[in-house]
Amino acid sequence: MDLSIERNGECMRKLTTGLIPFAVILLAWFTASKAASFNDAVNSVMLILPFVIAVLALFMSIWYKNSRFFFLTVFMLISYIVLKIAAAKEAMLMEAVTAISILIPINLVWLAFISERGIITGYGANKAILIGIQLAWVLVSVLGKSEDPAAGMLSPDQAMSIPAPAIILYILAIAFLLINYILKGQYIFVVFISILITTYISLHFAHRPVILAIFTNSVFIMVVSALFEVSYSLAFYDTLTGVLSRRAFEQELDKLGKQYCIAMVDIDHFKRVNDLYGHDIGDEVLKMVASILNRISYKARTFRYGGEEFAIIFQGQRISDVMTVLERVRAEVEQRPFVIRSENRPQEKPENITGSSKGRGRINITVSIGVAQKTESLKTPPDVIKRADEALYRAKSSGRNRVSK
Ligand code: GH3
Ligand code: MG
Ligand code: MG
Repeated sequence: MDLSIERNGECMRKLTTGLIPFAVILLAWFTASKAASFNDAVNSVMLILPFVIAVLALFMSIWYKNSRFFFLTVFMLISYIVLKIAAAKEAMLMEAVTAISILIPINLVWLAFISERGIITGYGANKAILIGIQLAWVLVSVLGKSEDPAAGMLSPDQAMSIPAPAIILYILAIAFLLINYILKGQYIFVVFISILITTYISLHFAHRPVILAIFTNSVFIMVVSALFEVSYSLAFYDTLTGVLSRRAFEQELDKLGKQYCIAMVDIDHFKRVNDLYGHDIGDEVLKMVASILNRISYKARTFRYGGEEFAIIFQGQRISDVMTVLERVRAEVEQRPFVIRSENRPQEKPENITGSSKGRGRINITVSIGVAQKTESLKTPPDVIKRADEALYRAKSSGRNRVSK
């Protein structure tokens, strides 16, 4: 989800979901600080929980076909098991912490950028092999230390030390993901950054099973909550344009108050854009129009109604005010040049198509808008939508590129 084309309510939701991973870290920190006073029952629950939540994370990532979070969970779970095996001896544990602290930042950056090509596919198998080789190597080098003379375990109040190269990798990975978050605004980067922070803390406590378990839990909880976020976005956002989906629109209709307006926006001669420039350019035009509609600085929410049609709901607004806003939007679409690269230009000169194109490599896009407001005679949202649709039809038949009410 691209945050740059989101606003108002959506921004608020992004902010809260963005804060969840950090709230989880704080909670883990608080729980860990109380770990010394846990009784045996609590301790054994803490030690089992990572496996339970990891299984949940694995099921959810398979269900949503999310290979990133699937392989992330697999990697973290096996690392956790390796750390538990290595805990038998200090030399083994140090070896494990060294290897894993180097692998985590590298793998997280890699997983943040893999393309979604399935889990149970050839691509998935390659990723599994890559992760398998790394962890097998860690395990072998850890077991290789099992003959080392016992040096006595670290005392519980000491922290394990993380080697300098790993610290540098951690810093680089966090900085890199942060830059990507700032540029692309994708939630996944926030999740990956917080997982890096969490594992960085947890590795310092690799010799304290309960604390390690608490922070490992946090990692899996972050994965589960991120997968919930992904499923929410799939349902309520349009994947192409990033605006709210038809389903979100229908839910919104049930929540409308006493006064509201609904506008229907339809791109003019959009079929020609597709026919002339191809479907990909058509998609770009749709995104461009969606981003303009989504930026309306007024109490409005934009939805993709279907195809090249958008619906805008203005809560608590009067039609006279809404008309002014829509007129501005219409003009903005008309004035926004849509430039296409030369390789996408048609063989035929666009000039022979009236109205929709002008100039070399530029398409002029316009929209027609119909708007209606709730009144005594238009009581229900479907009535208002129907009236807005009629207004849209009038806008089309009277020459397009206009707003009708
Ligand atoms: P009008 O001015 O009367 O609205 O004409 P129009 O060509 O825009 O309307 P029409 O309903 O005939 O065509 C809509 C076209 O929108 C048809 C369809 O191929 C195209 N379309 C619908 N959804 C998408 C999409 O997601 N991507 C692309 N590229 N085209 C789409
Ligand atoms: Mg249409
Ligand atoms: Mg159209």
